[in-house]
Amino acid sequence: MSIISNAIYGFTLGDAFGVPVEFQERDTYKVEEMVGYGSWDVPAGTWSDDSAMMFITMENLIRGKDINQLKQAFCDWAHRGYWTYNDEPAFDVGITIREVINRWERDGLHEKAKSDEFSNGNGALMRILPIALWTYGKELQGDVLFLYVKEYAELTHGHIRSTLCCYHYTLVVHRLLEGIGAADSLIFANEALTEMLKQYHEEASLFDRLFTINDFSRADIASSGYVIDTLEAVYWSLLNSSNYYEAISTAVHLGKDTDTIGALTGGLAGLAYKKLNVPQQWFEMLPKRSNIQDLISRFEQALK
Ligand SMILES: [Mg+2]
Repeated sequence: MSIISNAIYGFTLGDAFGVPVEFQERDTYKVEEMVGYGSWDVPAGTWSDDSAMMFITMENLIRGKDINQLKQAFCDWAHRGYWTYNDEPAFDVGITIREVINRWERDGLHEKAKSDEFSNGNGALMRILPIALWTYGKELQGDVLFLYVKEYAELTHGHIRSTLCCYHYTLVVHRLLEGIGAADSLIFANEALTEMLKQYHEEASLFDRLFTINDFSRADIASSGYVIDTLEAVYWSLLNSSNYYEAISTAVHLGKDTDTIGALTGGLAGLAYKKLNVPQQWFEMLPKRSNIQDLISRFEQALK
């Protein structure tokens, strides 16, 4: 499989692996296979909002950057089943995203997302992987790259913290694409984010733990849907694994926001380990497998 396939399937499989145990408390369950039902009444292999919004963003990038079309596509996903696993309206839209989508539908696409400090769930972070893949090797660095990421993050999460987390994840993806190992990719991203935080110093101390995430024990990792907790859980899972399956299993067994943490870890692990060591059957269980395959091919073509 290509490196882009590893990232996209790595993300999607991590999402589907975590869906049945979302919201569960840590150490109250064990999943080894791709199972269904559980937290959501959906069949095994079902991917959720994380993958759906990733696919929609990929499609939008292929067509050529059109932010209003992207917003409309998110509306169609939430309400009319565009890029959902079963063509029904999405089963799991986050609070902040649902709020802005409803305003886009009611008051127009110019409406802005909430930007208060408490609207910092992981809904921007969960759809940033395509932006990270898209911006790699395009001479976008520093402030220019930051502003590019910010434009996409802010569509649903207007507070700067969400953008800073998306920027960090993007930097890690870029280094992994270069073939640099996970630990060193994180060090590079930490340095670049530290530089950026000089402009946003009121946020700086919130990233202290992230910069030394490997020093923390499992009990210190919160794994909630708060964007900082999510990012910490993702990097901790990546650093405490030696292959793809181990990475998503570590992530999904942290509890709470298992699908998003599984997905974000899976995307990075697919890039870092270059091989998705899960049964072939897992791929076949993914709804819309052929659509996903076709989308990846078109995305790769557009990247050239
Ligand atoms: Mg989800």
